[in-house]
Amino acid sequence: MTLALHGGTPVRSTPWPTWPPPLDAAQRELVTGVLESGLWGATQGGRVVADLTAAFARTSGVPYGIAVGNATLGLFAALKGLGVGRGDEVIIPAYTFVASATAVLLAGAVPVIVDVDPGDLHLSPQAVGQAVTGRTAAVMPVHLAGSAADMDPLNALAARHGLAVVEDAAQAHGATYQGRPVGGLGDAGVYSFQASKAMTAGEGGLIVCRDEAAHEAIWSVCNLGRRLGGQWYGHPSVGWNLRLTEIQAALLLPWLDRLDDEIDRRNAFCDALERELAHLPDAGAVTLVPQPPGTTRDSRHLLMLRVNAPVDRDLLLAAMAAEGVPIDAGYPPLGTMSALTAEGARAEPCPASEAAARSVVWVRQSMLMDDPARAADIAEALAKVLAFRP
Ligand SMILES: *Cc1c(COP(=O)(O)O)cnc(C)c1O
Repeated sequence: MTLALHGGTPVRSTPWPTWPPPLDAAQRELVTGVLESGLWGATQGGRVVADLTAAFARTSGVPYGIAVGNATLGLFAALKGLGVGRGDEVIIPAYTFVASATAVLLAGAVPVIVDVDPGDLHLSPQAVGQAVTGRTAAVMPVHLAGSAADMDPLNALAARHGLAVVEDAAQAHGATYQGRPVGGLGDAGVYSFQASKAMTAGEGGLIVCRDEAAHEAIWSVCNLGRRLGGQWYGHPSVGWNLRLTEIQAALLLPWLDRLDDEIDRRNAFCDALERELAHLPDAGAVTLVPQPPGTTRDSRHLLMLRVNAPVDRDLLLAAMAAEGVPIDAGYPPLGTMSALTAEGARAEPCPASEAAARSVVWVRQSMLMDDPARAADIAEALAKVLAFRP
């Protein structure tokens, strides 16, 4: 069969579902109400940001939530509020989005980049243990692609060394670890509502936390150093305006009611794809990256596939796109980014992250939202491209 890249017929010619999905009736009503009220900012007396943060805290199993402009700033504010600052080290995984590292830099701290587990590609507790120094102040597990990082050993390590735990839950709205929602398992958890994420307002973020003093400190960082309930022009500490708007919150609050259904839908698609991949001519050629131990609900923001068959990676990505099944390359290991190391980030050896950068590809969320029967398109395109011999 001629590859579509070389003029053949593509496996798929119909478009994949769009992301974000079209506005639903509840979003339309709430957004319109906010727009017509004139209460667009969160400091004007509107209730939507407050309702969103309360609902999100509740679904995360913790008492407090703070809505922010995006998750990069949310991670920064959580670190800052938990007392992480200049000269401190924060341990982060090498296989993650760059913002996990730049948030640490924004707080004036040093990102210490360590390897991930070679199987599930989440932060390796063993690698964290080896990287702890007298200056380590925090560890930032990332719940990658919608799975849950293995939090128990990480929390135990953090407790032993007196480290703060900030969960980067930007990709994991609705995921659970041993039955408990991610985001509420460490000292603070941060979600993203950027356009590609599982819930989105174009941009946005939300911090959740359990401890009252932590909430007050993080809230102050996000509100120009004010004290909660204090005076408008009273600024006992240094902070910034990191707030989300009511308009954004109005897109997000109704989404919470349908998030679980959307997660079920993506899980059904991933299960169907797993069955299809098992029937490829070369059965082990492409496999799902397994979930870390403890993931009880995977929100399947994205799906990571490991390509075990020998194939030129650039050809694979270009040929799949031409077949109408675009897949993504995933992350370069953070330690290979000179912009980060130039700012003082330190990288431990990361062979598992480097292997992942060579062999793992990502299926987009919009594709996972399609009818599970269409998972066959992905398997068919992979089989076709992998069978190609130049
Ligand atoms: C998207 C993302 C972020 C940053 O979120 P923004 O809201 O875009 O700032 C941070 N960490 C991870 C793992 C992400 O995927």
